[in-house]
Amino acid sequence: MTVEQTLSIIKPDATRRNLTGKINAKIEDAGLKIIAQKRLQLTKQQAEAFYAVHKERAFFGELVDFMISGPVVVQALEGENAVARYREVMGATNPANADEGTIRREFAESIEANSVHGSDSLDNAAIEIAFFFSKIEIAA
Ligand code: ADP
Ligand code: MG
Repeated sequence: MTVEQTLSIIKPDATRRNLTGKINAKIEDAGLKIIAQKRLQLTKQQAEAFYAVHKERAFFGELVDFMISGPVVVQALEGENAVARYREVMGATNPANADEGTIRREFAESIEANSVHGSDSLDNAAIEIAFFFSKIEIAA
């Protein structure tokens, strides 16, 4: 077991429904620590840059429009195996396939408006945390 950090984003469908606290409770109940957090409105350019790995996918344009449709809360999380652990807490991309008790099962509206983002690997976690946070903003 190793202590890792991962990037989480509470997406606009969730901030719109005032679910930040309920999602944070699930994160903390899972033993993950929120070591940085800020709420912001992404620009189109920022959302396109963040999701650049998906730019060839059919849903890219819609995904970017969705991610800029309202504020997001970006967070750095820390804990044992935080990357995989948070993916478990989030649940499957499509909420119809997400396990009972996961964030997406409880809160997601659709495969697109699925309430949260979590890094998919340790390497991407470092890149994604650095996209949003400087060292001075992270207090582990
Ligand atoms: P995850 O967020 O579970 O890592 P992906 O990285 O595959 O999933 O996709 C990134 C995001 O793109 C998803 O969280 C979701 O918001 C959106 N998305 C994924 N697949 C689809 C789809 N088939 N239609 C619309 N949006 C999608
Ligand atoms: Mg992903």
